[in-house]
Amino acid sequence: MDSNLLNNNRIRDRFKPVQRPLAWMDIPKETWNRWTWQQQKRLRTEDQLAQVLTVFDDERAALDASKELFDLAITPYYASLIEPNNPLCPIRLQCIPKPGELDPAAYELSDPLAEDSHMPVPGITHRYPDRVLFYTTHHCAVYCRHCTRKRKVSDPSTAATQQQLEQGLNYIAAHPEVRDILISGGDPLSNSDDRLEYILERLRAIEHVEILRLCTRNLVTLPQRITLNLAQILKKYHPIYVHTHFNHPKECTREAFDACALLADAGCVLNNQMVLLRGVNDDPAVVLELNQKLLMMRVKPYYIFQCDMAQGLSHLRTPIAKGIEIIDSLRGWTSGIAVPHFVVDLPGGGGKVSLLPEYVMKREGKKWLFRNYQNIPFEYFDAD
Ligand code: SF4
Repeated sequence: MDSNLLNNNRIRDRFKPVQRPLAWMDIPKETWNRWTWQQQKRLRTEDQLAQVLTVFDDERAALDASKELFDLAITPYYASLIEPNNPLCPIRLQCIPKPGELDPAAYELSDPLAEDSHMPVPGITHRYPDRVLFYTTHHCAVYCRHCTRKRKVSDPSTAATQQQLEQGLNYIAAHPEVRDILISGGDPLSNSDDRLEYILERLRAIEHVEILRLCTRNLVTLPQRITLNLAQILKKYHPIYVHTHFNHPKECTREAFDACALLADAGCVLNNQMVLLRGVNDDPAVVLELNQKLLMMRVKPYYIFQCDMAQGLSHLRTPIAKGIEIIDSLRGWTSGIAVPHFVVDLPGGGGKVSLLPEYVMKREGKKWLFRNYQNIPFEYFDAD
């Protein structure tokens, strides 16, 4: 056997397939692996949840009260990652509501990044000089409790119509300064293959469009969505960057590994945007493990996002210092490619700022005194 293949297989073997709960044990593999089946069988109610895991009292109360605010939806695959009897399971915290969601702090905002106020036409946010956000759907396989777009995601009355899609495409075509499109949502992979291909084809036909970015959490919540057919479609419209959103090493399963491999083999460049969440990944050891696993899955850890100031997230938000501490714990201690940027996306549409630990201890004229990752001081002299 080719040694490279053997090597790849050894790496793949480290990623374990998800263990299904009893309730889904009898589902034939072929059915389980069909993404449309996973979509149809999503857990949407407290009763459905209770068939596969313990629903705790605080969650019952939050489920009832949050019904009108933000949908519940969890694919059987993602639900299988939840420890059924652990109220603090990091996967549970991301997809089952807790009472904190219902208690917005005074400083929190419904549209923290001011995306809606930078919307020249519905479905396009144009805030930066050369790139736009293009919302193609408001559906997601799993609705993340920490979503920054709760105000519209999961609300079917705000989904992108064909007319809206055309308006967005026309806007991009009419703006030659736009060279980079973030195809977003919701999750753009909630679109059918045909609709997605229509969007990609139309965007690629615009001469000034250079980069296409697909922002999707399906690799994490519904890896079955990454089919050979989808990979072959994407291959036709390169360069395509896929921005995904793994938050915890438990999400790095065999299924996710294979989905990433399909996209990477099809020539997509995969980047991860982790959101820092209390009780989920606010621990340097968890982030280290996640980032090292992502690299084995051919996904580059790109960003750690400070949790946005969206409403009802204060129970999940960590102090900014935690993100800096995590970067300090990575830099030097593991490969540079496992060290993402820690960024705060400034409220009101100010854009991202990147924060680093302080490595400069002192500066005297041309002499700089640094500390390295082990806190050992080193001098550096600027040239004359
Ligand atoms: S996948 Fe993204 S858009 Fe959808 S609920 Fe999660 S964070 Fe929000």
